[in-house]
Amino acid sequence: MSLYPARAVVDLGAIRANARTLCRIADGAAVLAVVKADAYGHGLVPVARAAVEGGATWLGTAQLTEALALREAGIDARVLTWLYAPGAPLELAVAADIDLAVAARWALDEIAAAARSAGRPARVHLKVDTGLGRNGLTPAELPPVLDAAAELQSAGLLRVVGVFSHLAFADSPGHPSLQHQLSVLHESVDAARSRGIEPELRHIAASAATLTAPELHLDLVRPGLALYGLSPVPQVGGPEDFGLVPAMTLEAELATVKQLPAGHGVSYAHHYVTPTATTVGVVPLGYGDGIPRHASGVDGAPGAPIGSAGRALAIAGRVCMDQFMVDLGPEAVEVAGDRVVLFGAGGPSAEDWARAAGTISYEIVTRLGARVPRVYVDHDDAGKDHR
Ligand SMILES: *Cc1c(COP(=O)(O)O)cnc(C)c1O
Repeated sequence: MSLYPARAVVDLGAIRANARTLCRIADGAAVLAVVKADAYGHGLVPVARAAVEGGATWLGTAQLTEALALREAGIDARVLTWLYAPGAPLELAVAADIDLAVAARWALDEIAAAARSAGRPARVHLKVDTGLGRNGLTPAELPPVLDAAAELQSAGLLRVVGVFSHLAFADSPGHPSLQHQLSVLHESVDAARSRGIEPELRHIAASAATLTAPELHLDLVRPGLALYGLSPVPQVGGPEDFGLVPAMTLEAELATVKQLPAGHGVSYAHHYVTPTATTVGVVPLGYGDGIPRHASGVDGAPGAPIGSAGRALAIAGRVCMDQFMVDLGPEAVEVAGDRVVLFGAGGPSAEDWARAAGTISYEIVTRLGARVPRVYVDHDDAGKDHR
């Protein structure tokens, strides 16, 4: 009996197995497991531990708070963090032996100041905007930053450990921009070397390039989505095609099961009307839990899929803040309290939900609300000896 009538069951054995699979695919490149955004909704610390047990030697976060939380949990793998604004307390990162990305000149200056106050050299990875047009030093901004980095490195204030970038079209294997971005990264590394900087790690591949472009693996790969057992390139293959196992199952207990006559409207504005006398179930999860309102069943189209008693059902009508309805059909076998699976083991996939809601599976798992309990299980026989 649980206090909350729904939960995300996270299989740490799947995370560990996926990390092992990614290490095998990386084929010699180091694996940095991306655990930003609360490990894509799966839970930062348990996932980080499982990823390290599976062979990841690095962890990556967007935010400084997430990187520091890993250290507070006693995790001593190498950690890279890459998103912060001027004035951030970078000395905390330097003191905690966290590697920092440098995406702008001001960041280099603030890191040098942080190293002075922490009394130890900072470890940095220069982030180059090779074409994504997001965070990172443009090729034009790079030379003066390299000059300054070389000086700070000689002064013992920092060490340039890596030079890295992020791809714009990694989910389109063979896209011409991939080779272009790679060559801009190589040119950036050459420019660093010409100033006496010898970065040991060049990296550009997230999940999609890790799975589909071995020539982009370089010295380290940074998979996020694949670690959670989801495919970043659903048009190329599903998780099983890459040997990955989805780690999260989102399930709920039916709060109410009741009979409605034919022609009865269901949920706000009656976007769904019962076609026959039927049984309707109330699922106690809504947009307050991160269920996308775009997954509603409106205008005659079924909403996102739901697995129940081995059947494939769908959201009927509008998703509300705390609940949504499902038409269990005239022959329903369900009673209140029965378990339904939104996605994961024994139900539809997060990718099915992404398609129904007009988004990507990344968003389906990551947006899951903090209100939904995470429950951890471990179904990894091969990895039991790691525990
Ligand atoms: C989020 C992120 C990743 C991981 O991306 P996936 O597509 O989930 O593998 C890697 N690198 C950077 C810089 C990121 O922001």
